[in-house]
Amino acid sequence: MKLLIIEDETALSEMMQGVLREAGFVVETATNCAEALEKIDMYEYDCILLDLMLPDGNGFTILHHLSEQGRASKVIITSAKGSVEDKVKGLDLGADDYLPKPFHLSELLARVRSLLRRGNKGAKEIEVGNVRLNPDDRSAIVAGKPLSLLHKEYHILYYFLTRPERVIDKQALAEAVWGDHADQSDNFNFVYQQVANLKRKLRDAGANIQIQAVYGFGYKLTEK
Ligand code: CA
Repeated sequence: MKLLIIEDETALSEMMQGVLREAGFVVETATNCAEALEKIDMYEYDCILLDLMLPDGNGFTILHHLSEQGRASKVIITSAKGSVEDKVKGLDLGADDYLPKPFHLSELLARVRSLLRRGNKGAKEIEVGNVRLNPDDRSAIVAGKPLSLLHKEYHILYYFLTRPERVIDKQALAEAVWGDHADQSDNFNFVYQQVANLKRKLRDAGANIQIQAVYGFGYKLTEK
């Protein structure tokens, strides 16, 4: 699950990043509207944490943009403004929740989890061939038996299963699973290694799907 924190207070943003990364989320950040819009256009986020008062504008413009683009990202407004009007306006514009500042980090984490759980996107079981993923508890079942996966392997499999029969660019996969840091790395050894481990586990478990290499580009998940 990938999150975007839009927050101009560096110290607060860092604390939010800490608790969310520890909980297993891939976290990216933006400190102003322009940067946030750029990232939203380039990447998909499961959940966006949105501060309203930003140095170059108001967070409401980001909500407008998300609804214009028909994006499925869940949004939690985190704001010190706290007026009833702002809350109503934010929810009217498509935000899913409103968390007034100051908040406890444990409350933030609980809200994010609850939102992603009730999100129709996150909670649905994904099934391709004889492989099933349950995003609620991150469990995987292959041919009726539980398959034990490491954290990153689960994320990679989730990424593939939600894009069956499509050519997956290895850069896009790296960014989805590792976040911003993948941008800087021109070395995909991590991706190769994790995908190789995942392929081996799927094969050993008798999965009837396979991850094929697409030469010079990336991968494709197909049913056997
Ligand atoms: Ca602010």
